[in-house]
Amino acid sequence: MARYIFITGGVVSSLGKGLASAALGALLQARGFSVRLRKLDPYLNVDPGTMSPFEHGEVFVTDDGAETDLDLGHYERFTGVAARKTDSVSSGRIYSNVLEKERRGDYLGRTIQVIPHVTNEIKDFLHIGDDEVDFMLCEIGGTVGDIEGLPFFEAIRQFAQEKPRGQCIFMHLTLLPYLAASGELKTKPTQHSVKELRSIGIAPDVLVCRSEHPIPEREREKIGLFCNVRKEAVIAAYDLKSIYEAPLAYHHEGLDQAVLDAFGISPAPRPNLTRWLDVQDRIHNTDGEVNIAIVGKYVQLEDAYKSIKEALTHGGMANRVRVNVDWVNAETFDREDAAPHLEGFHAILVPGGFGERGTEGKIKAAQFARERNIPYLGICLGLQLAVFEAARNVAGVAKAGSEEFDHEAGVMRFEPVVYHLKEWVQGNHKVERKSTDDKGGTMRLGAYTASLAEGSKVAEIYGTTTIEERHRHRYEVDIKYRKQLETCGLHFSGMSPDGRLPEIVEWDDHPWFVGVQFHPELKSKPFAPHPLFADFVRAAVDASRLV
Ligand code: GLN
Repeated sequence: MARYIFITGGVVSSLGKGLASAALGALLQARGFSVRLRKLDPYLNVDPGTMSPFEHGEVFVTDDGAETDLDLGHYERFTGVAARKTDSVSSGRIYSNVLEKERRGDYLGRTIQVIPHVTNEIKDFLHIGDDEVDFMLCEIGGTVGDIEGLPFFEAIRQFAQEKPRGQCIFMHLTLLPYLAASGELKTKPTQHSVKELRSIGIAPDVLVCRSEHPIPEREREKIGLFCNVRKEAVIAAYDLKSIYEAPLAYHHEGLDQAVLDAFGISPAPRPNLTRWLDVQDRIHNTDGEVNIAIVGKYVQLEDAYKSIKEALTHGGMANRVRVNVDWVNAETFDREDAAPHLEGFHAILVPGGFGERGTEGKIKAAQFARERNIPYLGICLGLQLAVFEAARNVAGVAKAGSEEFDHEAGVMRFEPVVYHLKEWVQGNHKVERKSTDDKGGTMRLGAYTASLAEGSKVAEIYGTTTIEERHRHRYEVDIKYRKQLETCGLHFSGMSPDGRLPEIVEWDDHPWFVGVQFHPELKSKPFAPHPLFADFVRAAVDASRLV
């Protein structure tokens, strides 16, 4: 049975709870333990799949096809443990399960209440897979005292109470604000936050305090005293140059030791930090830099492309260069020349997206990259747009476009080079979609196998001809255009195993032009950069030497 670490936050949101959880997971692994990380989100949406990226940042997709919170991406990037559907839950999902059971008559007509029905549902969720790992780290979204979060807090309190002593601990993240006028760090908000937590029956074992300034010993003692936490378990979390320094920084502050102490695990196994020392070395010792443009729609909120940004950073680490990312709003050149907006970049990336807005600009970006021999990586929609560009400007299909845009506009204007697929094969079973399915349920989601053409650029990059990557899209390139496009030099170098679904396209006679229908960024890690990103950045380095 796993030991449980519940991670909560207080004082303000966005303190980096997800990062602290992920870093702790990495440190426990470094000490030889197996871990799994989970996120419990208080919002009422049933899943994050239908939430706007403007609202909530990127949707992170798991191998088993769940659309989850972007924190699961952090967890995977730090631990390398592939997240599952059962690692993310929202209040909406919990309530929806409870109501479904009520409708089915499972509760035998009893009155349905938050305690015990909702809390039991949460506890059942927490138990899933508890015999598989040494530590289960469960992060509760939001801050203590939030109205939606209360059932989760109550559930973890009950959960710990029902387990043998020493099986569960609580870690709480707070902020120590700095008052410049008096030159002091203030501990009162932390005291209040812990008081709030204790009022609902949870006493933290470890306190992580975010601070922009060093925490004096005296303040640490005071926090320990007022919050009833051991002084050694008051851990400082300072701002870092890179998030990937977090495991070493937290180790240095004693977080993993404090956690193992709280469980009474003694002597604690010695950590092997080689992986993170290498990552740190690659962050600090770079030779040169490259400028890469991400031409997208949601450029105001960088979190909308979180995993892509991280994967580019990993690609930089693989090549020991700094990657500067510029966010370019494709809509600004929908109707004008793209060149002035894109000149000077060493590579162009067009990410995934939904809807027609900004697509004409992105098609121009693909054209610019093709004609000027600039490395181009198109992801999902970025592949589809590169195909339209090739079809329109090289293969003579003047009206090449996507059914998606016509559906959206309610008029037929395009020749559907990309069309809505209603059924396909996953592994060895058939998947069918109807137009009446839920909004969240109509996509090709999760891990699919692709076969790569021998001798193609991508086969060389991956070093294999069979890959598995994660998908999240409704529309597919129609293979009936394959011959026509390949004659022009755009090769379909990756296909679904049954040969029906194009997975990768690449231009001949171009230094680096690859479009992928899947999301390689979701599987990249700092200690194992994704081969496509590593090679894309390498190509950008080559391009930077030419100018
Ligand atoms: N909108 C496109 C589709 O649904 C691409 C989706 C994406 O880029 N994730 O097929």
